[in-house]
Amino acid sequence: MAYFSSFGGGFPHSHGRSREMGGDSALYDLLGVTKNASETEIKKSYRKLAKQFHPDKNPDDGEKFKDISYAYEVLTDPRKKEIYDRYGMEGLKESGSDGGPGDMDDIFSHIFGGGGGPFGFGGLGGFGGGGMHSRHRKRKGEDKLHQLKLSLEDLYNGKTSKLQLSKNVICKKCKGYGGRQGTKRHCNPCNGRGIRIITRQIGPGMVQQQQQVCTECRGEGEAMRESDKCKDCDGRKTTKETKILEVTVEKGMKEGQKIYFRGEGDQQPGVEPGDIIIIVVEKEHDVFRRDGVDLFINHKINITEALCGFSFSLTHLDGRELIVKSHAGSIVKPGSMKLVEDEGMPLHKNPLEKGNLIVKFIIEFPESSFESEDKLKALELILPDKPEAEQPETEEFEDVVLMDLDPNYRDGKSRSSHAYHEDDDDDPRHGGPGVQCQHQ
Ligand SMILES: [Zn+2]
Ligand SMILES: [Zn+2]
Repeated sequence: MAYFSSFGGGFPHSHGRSREMGGDSALYDLLGVTKNASETEIKKSYRKLAKQFHPDKNPDDGEKFKDISYAYEVLTDPRKKEIYDRYGMEGLKESGSDGGPGDMDDIFSHIFGGGGGPFGFGGLGGFGGGGMHSRHRKRKGEDKLHQLKLSLEDLYNGKTSKLQLSKNVICKKCKGYGGRQGTKRHCNPCNGRGIRIITRQIGPGMVQQQQQVCTECRGEGEAMRESDKCKDCDGRKTTKETKILEVTVEKGMKEGQKIYFRGEGDQQPGVEPGDIIIIVVEKEHDVFRRDGVDLFINHKINITEALCGFSFSLTHLDGRELIVKSHAGSIVKPGSMKLVEDEGMPLHKNPLEKGNLIVKFIIEFPESSFESEDKLKALELILPDKPEAEQPETEEFEDVVLMDLDPNYRDGKSRSSHAYHEDDDDDPRHGGPGVQCQHQ
């Protein structure tokens, strides 16, 4: 399944967390609310905890933050909340609903055949009628994954994408029989087994036995005469059809999130078609970086702006122009961050709520000797006082020379050998760079 090969980005939830969470009120407990809490209470509590445990503030509590975010995601999504209230974490896992723990495991089991083989995850379809544990009903075709690469603008504003795909549909002419009704007979080449054993030599005295699907009957054990075969599908029972799916990308969707088209997979007689699953892949953005619901930008200012104030304009993902200004008298330190409330990503399913925009400042210092000595002296008078130069405590002190550090500097040893060659190169008595080296 090559179409999955370039899946980027991490999966937000680690394997098997559902077990650790345990219990049916675990998600409520995580947010510190009761099962009867209103959506407003849940949101309020989440915002408080999210601030407290945000990885930027508490890098060690990253897992906790993910758990809280997951709890929030489930409890504010009416569909997921209902599943959770009725079936607990296992229910969320089984339902294959977006983004839940174990969700990706389901996908991987499909891809690598680790799980239920051709039986898809039950789907939400009939969960009123015992659909939750539907793995053993009618055989289900494979689900197909498609990546949909989206810009941050698309995920901020939402959009509708048209996806064209080719799929197998049951042949309309023979209704999936493959030819004239009742003309099938026992397939002789495979003796009705549908598979043939092929023996081939792979080396001196070594043979390999391989099972192969019978080409005559395509694995069915029954075949029909060429003249009886359906002309439209050439006896294959299905024909190719081009289908256009309208994918609605909702505001605030994120990397790894899935959009389901139930039953839109390939059709095959006697098999319930699998789903088309669109996986959201977030493209990198030149200006903004997203972390959950927050957006981050790096912004360069020079030292004068850092000391005396700044104002800059920023075009947001929806085209609005934001003017970002500093407070009078405030100093921006290198690497410091400031926050603009509610200018982050919209929350999925609740796009009027937004995360925050966080600006990290990079301060450009002037080059050495950017001004005359006199002016630098004058500058010194404005700036805070320097600490007084320390006097040597002993008689035997040494003055050392401070040099610029090469950005490629690794450690003292590699630098010293590097420096040796450079010294050589500078020496006019040698033929040129590297010559002495080569002759040694
Ligand atoms: Zn046909
Ligand atoms: Zn056969």
